[in-house]
Amino acid sequence: MTASSADLFAQAQQLMPGGVNSPVRAFRSVGGTPRFIDHAEGCHLFDVEGRKYIDYIGSWGPMIVGHAHPEVCEALEQTLRRGTSFGAPSTLEVELAREIIDRVPSMEMVRMVNSGTEAVMSALRLARAVTGRNKFVKFDGCYHGHADALLVKAGSGVATLGLPDSPGVTPGAAADTLIATFNDLESVEAIFRDGGPEIAAVIVEPVAGNMGVVPPQPGFLEGLRSITHEHEALLIFDEVMTGFRVARGGAQELFGVQPDITTLGKIIGGGLPVGAYGGSSRIMAQIAPMGPVYQAGTLSGNPLAMAAGLATLKILDRQAYLTLEQQSAKLADGLDRLLTGVKVSACVQRVGSMLTLFFGKQKVSDFSDARAADHTQFARFFQAMLQAGVHLPPSGYEAWFISLAHDDATIDLTLACTQRALRVSTGA
Ligand SMILES: *Cc1c(COP(=O)(O)O)cnc(C)c1O
Repeated sequence: MTASSADLFAQAQQLMPGGVNSPVRAFRSVGGTPRFIDHAEGCHLFDVEGRKYIDYIGSWGPMIVGHAHPEVCEALEQTLRRGTSFGAPSTLEVELAREIIDRVPSMEMVRMVNSGTEAVMSALRLARAVTGRNKFVKFDGCYHGHADALLVKAGSGVATLGLPDSPGVTPGAAADTLIATFNDLESVEAIFRDGGPEIAAVIVEPVAGNMGVVPPQPGFLEGLRSITHEHEALLIFDEVMTGFRVARGGAQELFGVQPDITTLGKIIGGGLPVGAYGGSSRIMAQIAPMGPVYQAGTLSGNPLAMAAGLATLKILDRQAYLTLEQQSAKLADGLDRLLTGVKVSACVQRVGSMLTLFFGKQKVSDFSDARAADHTQFARFFQAMLQAGVHLPPSGYEAWFISLAHDDATIDLTLACTQRALRVSTGA
C-alpha cells in the first residue's frame, strides 16, 4: 500500500525544511497538508491517494502545453538514449537558441543556464559590467529568484510567508538594491534624481506575476524605457514567467517595448530545469569566453532540458496563443460572473493565460494593494476548491496558469466547482 500525503508529509518534515524543496509548496499560508503528486497528465494532477485535480499551478508556469505532452515525452525519450549530459556543445543548444532568438527580436544572442534565479543573477552581473555601475532598481513585490541582492521586497514565497527580507543577505548586497513601486513612474524618477549615475539597471517583471497578476498600466513600461535611456542605465525584463506565456515573443511583444537584457526560464525548459538570458550582440559579447564577464555551468545547455524546451516551443505557434487567450478569457469571464452573482468583493486580473483572483479588492496596481487583499478568504476558498478537485496555487500572491490542455469541459467544471467553493467559503 502506498503512503498517504499526510504520512509522506510527516516523513518529509523530518528530512527537509518544512517537508519541501521550495517554500510555498508547504501550504503554510492556506493551512492543511500538501498533496503529494504521483503523476500528471494534460491539465490534471493525480495524488498518491489516487485523487484527481484540475491543475492551475502548472509547475508555476512551465507546463503551458499540459503535463506529459506526447510530443515532449517523445523528444525526451529520443534524447535520453543518446546520453544525458556531455559537457561539450551539442545540436539541441543551437536549435533552442535559434528558436528563442527568432521569437524575441531584442535578443541577438543568448546564454543557457539552469534556473531563472541563475539567469537573473547573471543578467545583473552583466548589466553592472556593461555600465560600470553597481546599483539597480527593482519593484516592491516583484520576484526575481533568490540571489542575495534580489531578495529584497521580493513578493512570491517571501510575501506568502510574511517574511521580512531574508537573513543571510549582507547589508552590502541589500544596499545596492533600490526599491520602487510597480506602476509608479514617479517613484522610479525620484530614485534616478537621487542616484542616477550609480544605477546600472532597472529590472522588472513586465507583467508582475509574483504578487499575483498585476498588469503594467499603459505607459509604465514605455516610461521605464525612456527613463533608463535618459540615464544610460539598462532595462532588464525578467520574463522568466511571461516569456512565451503571454505571447509568442513574450511580454515585450505584447506591449511593444524592447529591453536591453531579457531573462527567461520556466517554459523554455518544458518542465526541466532551464534558464536563459540574452540581449544585443554588443552586450552579450561581454560574456566569457567572448568577453571578461564570467559565468559558467556544468549542466548548462543540458540535452534533455533543451529537448523538452524545444518540443514545447514547437507546439506554441500563433494558433496556440489564440487558444490560450480564448480559454483563459472564458475562465476569467466565468469567475467574474460568479463573483458578481454572490456579491463577493473581489477582482480577477489576467494577462493571457495567467490570472489571479484577489478577494476584497476591486483593483490591484502594486504590492501594497496585493497585500491589502483578503488572504484569509483566499485560504478558505483554496481549501474548498481543493476539496472539489481543483488545485490552485496555495497562495493569494500567485498566478494561476492555464494550459493548452484546459479544454471547454475543464473550464466549465472549474466554474461549477468555483460556484460551490464560493458559497461554502464566503457563506454567501
Ligand atoms: C520563477 C521566477 C524566477 C526564478 O526562477 P527559478 O527557476 O525558480 O529560479 C525569476 N523571476 C521570475 C519573474 C519568476 O517568475
